[in-house]
Amino acid sequence: MTTDDFRPEKKITTFYPPQRILMGPGPSDTHPRVLAALARPTLGHLDPVFTDMMEELKGLLRYAFQTANLLTFPVSGPGSVGMEMCFVNMIVPGDKVVVCRNGVFGGRMIENVERCGGIPVVVEDKWGEPVDPQKLEDALKSNPDTKIVAFVHAETSTGVQSDAKTLCEIAKKYGCLTIMDTVTSLGGTPIYMDEWGVDAIYSGSQKCLSCPPGLSPVSFSERVANLVKGRTEKVHSWFMDINLLLGYWGSSRTYHHTAPTNSLYGLHESLVMLYEEGLEHSWARHRRNHEALKAGLKTLGIEYVVAEPYRLPQLNSVHVPAGIDEKEVRRRLLADYNLEIGAGLGDFAGKIWRFGLMGNSSKIEKVIFCLDALEHVLADLGMKVERGAAATAAHQYYAANPMPA
Ligand SMILES: *Cc1c(COP(=O)(O)O)cnc(C)c1O
Repeated sequence: MTTDDFRPEKKITTFYPPQRILMGPGPSDTHPRVLAALARPTLGHLDPVFTDMMEELKGLLRYAFQTANLLTFPVSGPGSVGMEMCFVNMIVPGDKVVVCRNGVFGGRMIENVERCGGIPVVVEDKWGEPVDPQKLEDALKSNPDTKIVAFVHAETSTGVQSDAKTLCEIAKKYGCLTIMDTVTSLGGTPIYMDEWGVDAIYSGSQKCLSCPPGLSPVSFSERVANLVKGRTEKVHSWFMDINLLLGYWGSSRTYHHTAPTNSLYGLHESLVMLYEEGLEHSWARHRRNHEALKAGLKTLGIEYVVAEPYRLPQLNSVHVPAGIDEKEVRRRLLADYNLEIGAGLGDFAGKIWRFGLMGNSSKIEKVIFCLDALEHVLADLGMKVERGAAATAAHQYYAANPMPA
């Protein structure tokens, strides 16, 4: 035996990814300013210069979530870790939790409740439809011992937005704490954490924040902080225990785990960009690009899955036109145009496409490019289209609807 026995046989050299345009359900295109930030010198995670940056980061996240919560910080891990963190800290075995499910991510919430020893009560809505507030109210009426209500604000699997404000009001009326998934909504769609009275919120870096995947901003109300402090039973996760993590993200700055310093520079930069742009401007930009894409798709006879009032501007789910091989379209877009769009998940697999217009992918030039490439591929596959119509419709929308100053 020599060490060479374990050397890969294939010659391996530096990995150079191709430059794609990411217009699927996430990740979105990382902004060049974020990529530049990621490449800056690594600091120790207890370096005072770094911890000053962490304080700024927390302030910028409070702005993004519209909250004054002191317990606001990015967790080291993807959105799924943020999700798990909420459930594992807030549930003790035997707790009843109402979970609203209208897509993939609500299903994952149920899985989390079960793994934490909680008792899930499921409020079910059809894929492609928002959570029905009446069903939530009915579930709480018949389960008055419910402790927590959990729901997804923006269901990325279907492109639906639920009425978070109303759902939170109902939860409050029945004395419940709320957990809200904002992985796809943060930065793209209005969120008012404090005004709506959300208790626990989590998001992800790779959707409307234009960062690479791997960080999950979270925020917890005072009520959650007290609940976790008052637990007699240890949180069933060492890594995600808020009480322990606070030693690092709080004022004492003691070692918990080695924070991913460079990734945090990236998140800081993306939040600086959001702060410079302004939340309202970012929401309006996402909406405007959605409307332009919609105008273009209409010329191709492509129809939306979700009814107009519940559509997410940043995630456009549409029916694949009859007789079109949806996989072949995605393959050609990627191979010939370096353009990634999303396929359907679960019940929607093979039936829909998902066009993401998130963060740095929510741009005029990308919308126009996407429509033109799609139109060409569909024409090539035999669909009758009027060449140039899709992009033209989008141009006309933009011309008639300038961005507010
Ligand atoms: C993407 C997504 C997640 C999971 O985030 P990961 O970073 O993939 O772990 C959770 N919820 C919603 C609504 C999402 O869109």
